[in-house]
Amino acid sequence: MDNEKKESTSFSKGLLQSEELYQYILGTSVYPRESEHLKELRDITATHPRAVMATAPDAGQLIALLLKLINAKRTIEVGVFTGYSLLLTALTIPEDGKIVAIDMNREAYEIGLPIIRRAGVDNKIDFIESEALPVLDQLLEDPGNENGFDFAFIDADKINYWNYHERLMKLVKVGGIVVYDNTLWGGTVALSEQSTPEAMREGRQRTLDVNKLLAADSRVQISLAPLGDGITICRRIL
Ligand code: SAH
Ligand code: CA
Repeated sequence: MDNEKKESTSFSKGLLQSEELYQYILGTSVYPRESEHLKELRDITATHPRAVMATAPDAGQLIALLLKLINAKRTIEVGVFTGYSLLLTALTIPEDGKIVAIDMNREAYEIGLPIIRRAGVDNKIDFIESEALPVLDQLLEDPGNENGFDFAFIDADKINYWNYHERLMKLVKVGGIVVYDNTLWGGTVALSEQSTPEAMREGRQRTLDVNKLLAADSRVQISLAPLGDGITICRRIL
């Protein structure tokens, strides 16, 4: 409990009106259902200086539900960090499922990897240490990958979200789902530029741009769900 209390003050990712309400959701519906390995990975990550980057557990819970609903087998993950969303995905997809997981920095992944191994799901993961865009382009060079994925979770450099989206509209099949993380950017999307902390201004602008583009994209059905830092769920329909 102590740990979770500490998180509520130092690492809160929620954007709800009150911190108490966010902690209520986590404490009542999320943490009691979180697997022991995920909790272990979350606790280890909390000691990392960039812990704030890890996927919010409440958003993760919805991602797991979506994966089950569409019976996802082949998935893509852009932005692994220590591997919270990656482990969550690996635990949720079937035994013969596969995840192409891309991050240009393997260091943080090494922190989570022993836990992922102990959870017995590392066999489902193909980790590629690279910039994501060239990897997605490379995947597209093999016609077998076109419409070959059921699901993608995108949680990396916001400047490339639209570039990722263009590739994913070919890699993920019609009926498949792409989830984009941090689409509320700490709530700054609803603030003026002046009232946005300087360090968040660029990300705010990128987020505003991508949210507008996604809302206007007839290839997808969308829902911007205010879980964690905001996740936009896109279901490919064209
Ligand atoms: N989904 C993760 C959090 C990802 S944080 C979790 O649940 O913990 C963002 C990650 O994106 C970082 O690890 C960073 O190294 C990676 N990243 C940033 N820009 C990238 C790029 N252009 N290509 C690949 N990875 C990138
Ligand atoms: Ca994120």
